[in-house]
Amino acid sequence: MSAGTLVQLSYLIAAALFILGLKRMSSPVTAVSGVRWAGLGMLLATVVTIVFMGASRLDLILVLTAALVGGGLAWVSGKRVAMTDMPQMIALYNGMGGGAAGAIAAVELYRGESPNATHLTIALIGGFIGSVSFSGSLIAFGKLQGLITKSVRFGGQKLVNLAILIATLALGAMIVAQSQAATPVISGFFVLALLLGVAMTLPIGGADMPVVISLYNALTGLAVGFEGFVLDNAAMIIAGTVVGAAGTLLTQLMAKAMNRSLGNVLFANFGETGAAGAGPAGTQKPIEASDAGVMLAFSQKVIVVPGYGMAVAQAQHKVWELCQLLLERGVQVRFAIHPVAGRMPGHMNVLLAEAGVPYELIADLDEINAEFETADVALIIGANDVVNPDARNNRQSPIYGMPILNADKAKNVIVIKRGQGQGFSGIDNALFGLDQTRMLYGDAQSAASQLIHAVKAAG
Ligand code: NDP
Repeated sequence: MSAGTLVQLSYLIAAALFILGLKRMSSPVTAVSGVRWAGLGMLLATVVTIVFMGASRLDLILVLTAALVGGGLAWVSGKRVAMTDMPQMIALYNGMGGGAAGAIAAVELYRGESPNATHLTIALIGGFIGSVSFSGSLIAFGKLQGLITKSVRFGGQKLVNLAILIATLALGAMIVAQSQAATPVISGFFVLALLLGVAMTLPIGGADMPVVISLYNALTGLAVGFEGFVLDNAAMIIAGTVVGAAGTLLTQLMAKAMNRSLGNVLFANFGETGAAGAGPAGTQKPIEASDAGVMLAFSQKVIVVPGYGMAVAQAQHKVWELCQLLLERGVQVRFAIHPVAGRMPGHMNVLLAEAGVPYELIADLDEINAEFETADVALIIGANDVVNPDARNNRQSPIYGMPILNADKAKNVIVIKRGQGQGFSGIDNALFGLDQTRMLYGDAQSAASQLIHAVKAAG
């Protein structure tokens, strides 16, 4: 078998592994093995490329050094990162992918040896998308990491962004027209594309960052796919297309779960203005853990709604311990998962799976919503926006129309949170002031521990 055939065959196997991996990632039961299969595909594609690229000794040393340093850093940071910091890590790594695609385009353009205008145009499109994704993702990382705390906004901002976009496209058109463009023109093209990513992302509020990251993820995939054409590398084309498609679907899913259009996410500056139009919060009525424990212990049916606060407190193990006690007492227990509970889709599923909660006890929004009416207690653990009935009842609310878990329909509601803090969207929650709602103030982990004691003591 010739080297070329072997390379193409390996890329085909790698592509099959990417798709198999992605398929397995669609269920929490098989997700971990899915990540491994996809990783194996990536390893195969990388090794084959390095071995057969016909590089000089110096090139090989450079590539291996970069792979070792990059791989090492990713390994260490991946091991250390807290689940709650995952979105910013994804933003950072995604930005690197966009940057890599942009770098491939830059090499191609500066070299000035493109065989034809189509080849050049594809390199330019990939370079443009990759550069926007690179700088935009870095700003998203900065915002989520708390390094950038202000959202830069000024009058006419959208016009300025439009002007940058038009100028970038004009330089791109010049490059294609001249076929061997001067270095300053090419540099100008990349500088403007990078600037556009920064300018587009700076005004977007922190609450929308996960959606923006998902969008940039899709764009990075697209950019890598384009640069795959430039390098004539099938593995890059397939992997880029798969990432682009998956990222687009995820972006749609997140926008839909927040009842927002993508245009609204990108241009409405929602995260900063959320407080306006929120409904009255009502008076919050506290409850002692001992009383809440008795209420749970003598219930027939309890629906647990986990949210971001459970993730921050790492309370999933204690929560499951509490639920096991209730199950042993014959209480029917189910977990209700909102698609955007926490800070990324699937966040709660991952935590509950880690704690060992059986999948049959976990239900999605559509599946569980009708059941709240028959629940004695809805136990809300560090969730807020995803159970705010204003989304259903208050047309003035910024989150009006967002699908929510109907916890307010339960006979009793117990809310565990530390104090009067608001949710991610920065608005008050009408659920907390309802007659049937009681607030159990405290860190989710210690509150769950207190409830465990209380249920045990209930006899
Ligand atoms: P929220 O962010 O709305 O609320 C979390 C609540 O947890 C807060 O009210 C906070 O109140 C409480 N909390 C924080 N720390 C603790 C702790 N240690 N112990 C107990 N409680 C704690 O979370 P939800 O999960 O309900 O909603 C997710 C939000 O994120 C939605 O607005 C969603 O649109 C947004 N989002 C989610 C994305 C996703 O993909 N999942 C993507 C983009 C946005 P207090 O400070 O009083 O304790």
